Order: sequence, then structure tokens, then C-alpha cells
Amino acid sequence: MSKSKNFLSAIVDEDLKSGKYTEVITRFPPEPNGFPHIGHAKSIFINFGIAREYNGHCNLRMDDTNPTKEDTKYVEALKDAVEWLGYDWGKNVKFTSDYFPKIYDYAIELIKMGKAYVDSLPEEDIREYRGTVTTAGKRSKYAERSVEENLDLFERMKKGEFKDGEHILRAKIDMTAANMKMRDPLLYRIRHVHHFRAGDEWAIYPMYDFAHCLSDYIEGVSHSICTLEFENNRDVYNWVLDELGLKSPRPYQHEFARLGINYTVMSKRKLLELVEGGQVSGWDDPRLPTIAGYKRRGYTPESILNFCDTIGIAKANSMVDVSQLEFCIRDDLNTKVPRVMCVLDPLKVTIVNYDGEEEIDASYYPHDVPKEGSRSLPFSREIYIERDDFNENPPKGYFRLTPEQPVRLKHAYIISCKEVIKDASGKITEIKAEYFADSKSGSDTSGIKVKSAIHWVSAGSAKEVEVRIYDRLFSAEAPEGIEDINPDSFEVIKNALIEPAVINQKPDERYQFERQGYFYADPIDYTDAKPVFNKIVGLKDSWSKKTNVTAAKSPAKKVQVDGEEVAMSEEQKSLFDKYTVDLGLNSEVANILARDTYLSSFYEEALNILNSPVSLANIVVNEVAREIKEKEASALKFNTKQIAELVKIVDDGTISSKIAKQVFEEMVKTGNNPTQIVEDKGLVQISDPAKISPIIDEIIEKNPDNVAKFKAGNTKLLGFFVGQVLKSTGGKANPKVVNELVAQKLK
Ligand code: ATP
Ligand code: MG
Repeated sequence: MSKSKNFLSAIVDEDLKSGKYTEVITRFPPEPNGFPHIGHAKSIFINFGIAREYNGHCNLRMDDTNPTKEDTKYVEALKDAVEWLGYDWGKNVKFTSDYFPKIYDYAIELIKMGKAYVDSLPEEDIREYRGTVTTAGKRSKYAERSVEENLDLFERMKKGEFKDGEHILRAKIDMTAANMKMRDPLLYRIRHVHHFRAGDEWAIYPMYDFAHCLSDYIEGVSHSICTLEFENNRDVYNWVLDELGLKSPRPYQHEFARLGINYTVMSKRKLLELVEGGQVSGWDDPRLPTIAGYKRRGYTPESILNFCDTIGIAKANSMVDVSQLEFCIRDDLNTKVPRVMCVLDPLKVTIVNYDGEEEIDASYYPHDVPKEGSRSLPFSREIYIERDDFNENPPKGYFRLTPEQPVRLKHAYIISCKEVIKDASGKITEIKAEYFADSKSGSDTSGIKVKSAIHWVSAGSAKEVEVRIYDRLFSAEAPEGIEDINPDSFEVIKNALIEPAVINQKPDERYQFERQGYFYADPIDYTDAKPVFNKIVGLKDSWSKKTNVTAAKSPAKKVQVDGEEVAMSEEQKSLFDKYTVDLGLNSEVANILARDTYLSSFYEEALNILNSPVSLANIVVNEVAREIKEKEASALKFNTKQIAELVKIVDDGTISSKIAKQVFEEMVKTGNNPTQIVEDKGLVQISDPAKISPIIDEIIEKNPDNVAKFKAGNTKLLGFFVGQVLKSTGGKANPKVVNELVAQKLK
């Protein structure tokens, strides 16, 4: 659990201080109707985390009151997830079904008190009688039944004398309550179905609102933590326990925000659809946000817990960027796993002036990782390099091997290309190269300058491996259905080549394949004869840069966009040149503008008002373009003048560029002027070090572990601290000032 207090810990603190409870007991109560996902991980982290923090305990309780969808295989998956995340539920897993007899007795008690009745209205009438948010409901005539009649009917419901839906047990509360949940909520319904644990004993099953609070009470739970959608159920929760006169200590319900992540779906129902529809290979498909999927893919429990910790526990629902989760796994593996070489798309290189073979001792870890371990790396005349690490007609900024440009083989020698051999179709089949004997890594006296080092394997000793490359399952940020599935989310490379030590020595199960990303020996399909590795995550976020570059209809000209060659029409090319050469835009931005006549004219109009080419281009290409994608241009509420004004107040430091996004959202909705919005909402940027300083101090104090890690050399954590400060000021702090101050203070 994080050191900083969240609102739930604050409640627990208060309850312990006031003597309301002497022991903290929580529960994680999933319904066993699907595999748990990352949202459940957050709930597990919170419930088990609080219990651990206060030396209490947390029950794992299967909320199995809906027999048609439940199954023991889901129970096993839930147990596995909790255990994998490192938590302990004590002796036994609990089941709501174990409490069915007790819950039944409580229902009898309520009936005897005149607080519950058997209703026999048809389902449609029940719905209609409930009323709406603005109109009161009306009570069913059956509410007048006598206690005796209710007892008799309820018992016969239990015995199975009636059909599904014929009768229902309801609490008698208030059909005019403002909270709709309080309008005589349903307590028990008839269901003639087999229960995976209780068998055929019951023909009636308790509803969530009745079973949950009573199960909590029966288990002695103190803090019943659930997600926000149950906020309105809280009144029913309290009503049941209060009416039954259940003595304290009794549980109280507290709600937190559900976790949502972009580029995926999360509900078990939607996940089940993907599994049953065959869009994925099963509940443990490495592209799914299930715990089983993450586990299979190679995520570590630490990275998931760390993610749950960094996103915090809030009271407002929000969408978390999946790149934050990816950051956590990279951050975890970066200093943990050995770095080895694997060539995914091999191109043969013959080093013509090298004879024989040698073994190079190469460390598994770079200098800044405090871990020991090395392997011997065979080097020989024939090696393989990555096909795209050679380029015959290199674009500007290409730092790897070319006919003119030498390159270093990581841990080994510098080579230069002497000859390119091709097959009849023009495909390169082999490079003939020369090595420089005095350039060996660690004892290089050659004086040759190279711009990069590439990975490679020795042909004679490399092992063939299968590599499974996974990417985001959906290409839409908020996917709506299978039509949004990313067609490139899964690729199998059958004949990748890996250095032998990985297979022979097995220093770990997870690796960094140099320059490729992090990989995991598949826990199911891997064998030494046929090794299989799953890609866990790349070395950097490849999604933040993706743009849709579509070729022009009549490609006349070629230009380089971010190192790739793309085709353009004459007109587009002249705009592109103007934007890159005269206005200093980067090639990606210029490319997007040049291809879209609406965007480019919008841009140029704004540029006439404000001479700030780079900032204007960025907002047009990102924010304005996104709006246009969603709406007709004529439906936009903002104009070029307002966009220029927005950029101006960012440029002059009135607001941060982060806040600018927020202001923009408001402009989209209201069409108001940015200056007005900033004034109304108090969004002016905080640049005064005296105001920012105390916030930084507080964050430094709350995160001693990260401070220690930073001081031990993990400089990446600077970003963490800056992020925390920005977050706690709602994005209003001036990032530049924050950066400088944080760096100063952490020195
Ligand atoms: P789903 O809609 O995915 O089926 P659920 O809420 O029906 O989820 P349950 O099995 O009933 O799933 O949930 C068990 C516990 O996990 C509940 O306390 C629930 O609030 C919590 N939980 C479920 N989804 C999330 C989420 N996305 N973020 C945080 N907690 C969650
Ligand atoms: Mg549910």
C-alpha cells in the first residue's frame, strides 16, 4: 500500500481511533462469472492492501448468487489471480452460497416484522409501478398481504412450488423515495436452476442488495469497499442491517472509482464475448486485460501492483492511459532482467577477413544496473543481423550499417560493408563485410567512429525460436466493438535466432532482447526443442507517435517523414517543404497538414493572426484535427481566431500546455473565448517557485522509496516526481519550473 494516505485509509484511521472497530476486516467479493481483469486487480490491491496495512485480514468471497453464469473454473481463476498478486485470504475461500440458510432466516425475520412482502405483480407492472426519477412510484396491492400469508408463500417459493417470476420477495420501504433503489427493492427471486455449489437445494436466490450486506455482516467485515456504481445501493445496505437490528460492530459501505483503461474493454461480459467469439485465443490471451492474460504475456505482479498504486484511489471515475501500465512493466524489468541478443528478421553477414571462432565474455547487465552475471557469446565468420539494420539507400539520420557507414556489433567488433548480394528478385540475401581486428568492444584502439551498435547472433550457434509479438488488441481508444479490433495485434515470427546462452543457461524467464523490447518464455508452449517467447512490451511507447500516413492519389514526389519514405502529390510536396523548411515544423506534423486541405487552410488562417508556427501547428494537428474527425467542420464552435488566442496565452506563459487541452475541451463545448474560460475557471499557470516548492517537498516526503531509488541512480524517476507535482496542482504548475525545482531538490 502506498505511504500516502488515500481517502479510504483516512476513514479506517478515523474508525480505529474512535473505537468503532478493533480489527480491520475487508473482503474482495467477485462474482465467479468470468476471469478477473486489471479492474479487479485494483480492487484486490485496495481490499487486501488495507487489510495488510492495518494487520487485519481480507476474505476472498465468491458472490455466487446468480447461478446461471457461474462456474468453478472462474473460482479457480480468481484464486489464482489473488495469489499471484501476492495476497493471502486465510484458510478458506468464502462463498455467499454458504450463507443461503442464514440469509433465508433473515428474510423470514423481516417478513415477521412486516418489513418484507411477497409481490405477485408481473414483471412489467413491477417496472411500471416503480415510477421514474421525477415521478413517485406506487405500491403493489400485494403489499397488504398478512404476515401469515407472506410466510406461507415465501416457504412455498423456497420449496419450488411456483414458476420463475411468479412471485418475488420485496422489502417494504418507500415507493416514493428519491433514491429509486429504495422503492421496495427485490430481496429474493425464484430461479429453478442448478447451482454449481448448492446443487438443486434452492429454488429461490437472494438478490445482491440483500445478500451482500448480510454476507459482510456474517463475516464480521468492518469496511465494505466497492465501486461507485453501488453508491445508491448504500441506502438499502444500511436499511437491511438497521431494520434487522444487527448489533455493531457492523460493516459500512464505502465507494471508490472504477478503473478504466483505454484501448481495451474491461467488463467480464465483453471479455466473454471476445473469448467465445474466437477473437482471442482464450481468457489468458496475452492481449486481454485479464490477470491470466498479463501473466501469460510476462507481466510481473510487482508491475501491476505498482500500477494500482501510482494511479491512486479516487472518488471520480476516470480513464487511465494504458501507456501508464506499460511504463510500470518497463520500469520493473529495466533493472531486473538480463539483456540478450535475438534477431527477429535475420540477414546473413559473412565477415570475409575473419577466420575461426571465439567466445566473448559479455555481461548480462549494463554498467548502471547493480547485478552480476555474464555469458559467453560465440563470434564467428558468419553472423546474422536484423534485416532493417542495413540500408542500401539510407535516409538522412540513419545510423546503422550502410555501404558507406560502419557499425558496431554489440559486445564485439566494428564491421563495414564490402558487398551486397541479391537474388533474382532484387532482395538482399547476404552482406559481405570486413571487421576491424583492433576494434573489439572494451579494448578498441581502432579510432573508428560509429553512430550505433546493433545486435547480432553467430550463425553456427544461434538457436531458432518462435517469437510472438503482441500489440494493443483495439486500435480505438474507446473501442465500441469487434470492428475496432487492431488487425495487427498479433504476429508470429517462426524463425527468429537467439544467442545460445538463453536456451542453455536460462538465466531468467524474462529478458530484454537488445533494442527490441522485453520478452517472456511462454509458460505453456515453451520447450527447449521449440522455444517460444512472448513480447511483453517494447522499449518505448510506440503508440504516442503513430500517425495515419496515407499515400496521395497521384504520387509524384517522395519525402522523408520520420525516417520513412512517403509519397506525395506535387502540391502537397510544396506545402510540405514550406512547412518544414520555412516554418520549422517537424516532418510528421508537416505531413499531416500538407495532406489535409481543411487543416492547412485553418492553420494558415490562424498563422495570419499569430506568428507562432510550431505551437499553432501542434494544436491544429492534434486537437483541431480530432474534432474535425468527429464532427463536420461547419459544426465546430471555435474559430481560427480563438485558436490563435489559445496558443498566445500558452506561449506567453499564462497557462500551461496541459491546461490548454482542458481549455480547448471547453471551447469545443461552449465556443467561449479561451481567455474567458481561463478566468472563469481559475486556470492561470502557477510559475512562482515559492508556491510550487512546498508541494514538491510534500511529494518528496511521501515517497522516500522513490527518492532513494533516484539517488541510487534511477534518474528516470525525475519524471515520476514531476508528474506527481503536476497532478497535485491539477496540471496548473509550470512544468519547466517544476522540472528545475525537482532536479534541484533531489540533488
Ligand atoms: P465486470 O463488470 O467486469 O463484470 P463486476 O463489477 O461485475 O465487473 P465483480 O466480480 O462483481 O465484477 O467485482 C468484484 C469486485 O471488483 C467488486 O467489488 C467490484 O467493485 C470490483 N471491480 C470490478 N471491476 C472493477 C474496476 N474496473 N475497477 C475497480 N474495481 C472493480
Ligand atoms: Mg457484475
